[in-house]
Amino acid sequence: MANKFLVVGNWKMDLSHKAALEVAGAIKKMLAGIYLDVDVVIAPSFTSLPAVATKLAKNEKVQLGAQNVHWEEGGAWTGEVSVSQLTPFARWCIVGHSERRQLVGETDEQVRAKVYVLQKHGLTPIVCVGETADERNRGETVSKITRQATAIFTQQTGVSVSRLVIAYEPIWAIGTGETPDPAEAAQTMLLIRKIAAEKLGAEAAEKIRILYGGSVNAGNAADFVSEPGVDGVLVGGASVKSAEFVNIVKAVEKIERTF
Ligand code: PEP
Repeated sequence: MANKFLVVGNWKMDLSHKAALEVAGAIKKMLAGIYLDVDVVIAPSFTSLPAVATKLAKNEKVQLGAQNVHWEEGGAWTGEVSVSQLTPFARWCIVGHSERRQLVGETDEQVRAKVYVLQKHGLTPIVCVGETADERNRGETVSKITRQATAIFTQQTGVSVSRLVIAYEPIWAIGTGETPDPAEAAQTMLLIRKIAAEKLGAEAAEKIRILYGGSVNAGNAADFVSEPGVDGVLVGGASVKSAEFVNIVKAVEKIERTF
């Protein structure tokens, strides 16, 4: 059976607390009257999670995610946030975003540890992988994705693959307005699924939801999710504009899954 589409909004550090509540309220309102067979997740900053959770209360259409977590379950880690601090509010968590890998120096090993701790506590990791423009130009996309994906799947020791999301985000497409050809992106996503199949078996690999991310908007979302094996989108900049985000959700919802 095909996976249910998933649309994730990564709000990054783009909204004040007040604005986060307004955008969450607007999305909730706009999605209220429509039938949705798509999972929708928004990921505000840590500080806004409790209030956004309250705002969305009893709303089954929009779920909450965090943008990061620490791999340790507690201890002397000033300024960090542990998984048990997230569990009252979020069911999903982005990890290994390229901004964290590049700007904070997050390693494959740390990302793998985060996936492990999230799954241990019942949260669904949304793990980002992707190549830079230089890596793409040097023809290193396959080796980079293979390295990052292998690190994630090697860690899967008995944890649930049905609760695992991978987001293929070419770094050169993030926030730039540039996008790969959807068919080309789908090929790279197929590579991710092949690596998963090698490590975990074909049946398990099919259950992993693989998203495309990088300059997704309401005008191009359908092109990506129409490709075989693309299970949804991870949206950055366009996700903090409530009407645009809802239009992305609607565009994805319109696509009939045949694979
Ligand atoms: C992201 O940061 O995960 C992202 C996909 O950003 P954007 O949609 O703005 O390119």
